[in-house]
Amino acid sequence: MKKEKAVVVFSGGQDSTTCLFWALDKFEEVVAVTFDYNQRHAAEIECAKAIAEELGVEHHILDMGLLNQLAPNALTRSEIVVKDGTGGSLPSTFVPGRNLLFMSFAGVLASQLGAKHIITGVCETDFSGYPDCRDIFVKSLNVTLNLSMDEQFVIHTPLMWLNKAETWEMADKLGCFSFVRKKTLTCYNGVVSDGCGECPACKLRKQGLEDYLKVRAAI
Ligand SMILES: [Zn+2]
Repeated sequence: MKKEKAVVVFSGGQDSTTCLFWALDKFEEVVAVTFDYNQRHAAEIECAKAIAEELGVEHHILDMGLLNQLAPNALTRSEIVVKDGTGGSLPSTFVPGRNLLFMSFAGVLASQLGAKHIITGVCETDFSGYPDCRDIFVKSLNVTLNLSMDEQFVIHTPLMWLNKAETWEMADKLGCFSFVRKKTLTCYNGVVSDGCGECPACKLRKQGLEDYLKVRAAI
C-alpha cells in the first residue's frame, strides 16, 4: 500500500463505490468527494453519505448547484425523460462539461488536502457518448491540472477499459461484491441496490451482473 493520500470522486453508485474500495486497497489515506448538483434524487447524496460513513472515509460534499442552472438535463430535472442517445445524438443525461468541472474541483480539493492521487470511475468501454469520460480527456486534464496548480497529481481510472461485467469482477476481487450490490445506487429512478430494473442505468448494471454471475458460476 502506498503511504500516500487519494481523493475519490464518489457518487454512491456501483462504479465509484468500486473505485473507493480500489483506493482503500491501494492508498493509506482516502478521502471521498461527492458533488451535489440537485440530482433528480436526493437519495443519491444520502446513499453516498451512508457508504462513506460505513467505511469510515472522510467525505466532502461540494455544492455544484450552478451546473443545474447552466445545463438543465435529465439528471437534474424530473420533467426531462431519461433516454439513450439515438441517431448519434448524446443521451438526455449528458451534462456538458460535468466531468471537466467535477475533476477540476476534485483537483482543487486534492491540492488543499495535500493528496497526490485522484480517482474517478469514468469508463470508455460502455461509452454512451460522454466525451469527458474518454481516456484522452482524462489524460489531457491531468496535464492541465498539474500545470494550473503546479502539482504532480496522478489521475487514476481503474474502470476505464472494463465492461460492466468486469467491474463486478473487480468488486468481487476486492471483496466488496455484496456491499456494492446491496448498498449502491445506480438507478435513474432512485432505487438502491438492483434498482427499478427499467431505466437505462439499471439495464446496463443488470446485464453486467448477469454476465459476471455466469462467468463466476463457470469457474
Ligand atoms: Zn432504474
